Amino acid sequence: MNQTTRRALFKTTASLGATAGVALLGGCATAQSPSGSAVSPLFTLPAITVPIVGSNSTFPVRRIYCIGRNYRAHSIEMGSNPDREPPFFFQKPTDAIQYIAPGTVVDHPYPTLTKNYHYEVELVAALGKGGKNIPIEKALEYVYGYALGLDMTRRDLQRGMGDEKKPWEIGKSFDHSAPIGPIHPVSSIGHIGKAAIWLKVNGATKQSADLSLMIWSVAEQISKLSQAFELFPGDIIYSGTPENVGPVSRGDVIDCHIDGLPNLSVKIV
Ligand code: MN
Repeated sequence: MNQTTRRALFKTTASLGATAGVALLGGCATAQSPSGSAVSPLFTLPAITVPIVGSNSTFPVRRIYCIGRNYRAHSIEMGSNPDREPPFFFQKPTDAIQYIAPGTVVDHPYPTLTKNYHYEVELVAALGKGGKNIPIEKALEYVYGYALGLDMTRRDLQRGMGDEKKPWEIGKSFDHSAPIGPIHPVSSIGHIGKAAIWLKVNGATKQSADLSLMIWSVAEQISKLSQAFELFPGDIIYSGTPENVGPVSRGDVIDCHIDGLPNLSVKIV
């Protein structure tokens, strides 16, 4: 193959790859499909959505962001200094969502690899608009609605990885780790500022606090997060848990609550 021919071939394969997503193997196009021909996914993935109260639409979830150590007493119990630390974020995979319909007790599988499986009850903010560098004063305009959620955590794996200065993804970002109730639009319930948040296990209160005790408000979380990532509609933010996180075992029933939202219940199985 002379140089001119080779250059022409590269040009052809590059344009095929760009227009039709044709796989290139060893520098050669695997197909000679005409430029512009339709391509389709090899298979389809289920859309991850959460029901919206009072609507026939569902809320498509794009990304799950979570803020860490956002209540003073919880920050202290996790070994942090709540007065010095800026907010930090992690993500869960979108398909970690487990929808919990109010008025039902949904089976929640005890995950593999852990012997210390913890609950964290949290307010979840669901974004209806996206942006970068969102100012705090405008940030609540980006919230479409709110839900009650659980940031379920394999605490032993999270701690173990943290102690080794490794990413603690395995402790936080596993299958079913993001139970969530339906989304309540701001247009019907307004914003949630001061409200009781609690969690019970088998009827005994374990966590009990008020959303007003967050170190970083939802508006501040959105603003900070938008400096690190471009936010989009469909992004949801787990806004942190109050103190007294703790373990559950198979058979335990978790009930959780935020004033103004229906309670959620899961049974660990
Ligand atoms: Mn959390």
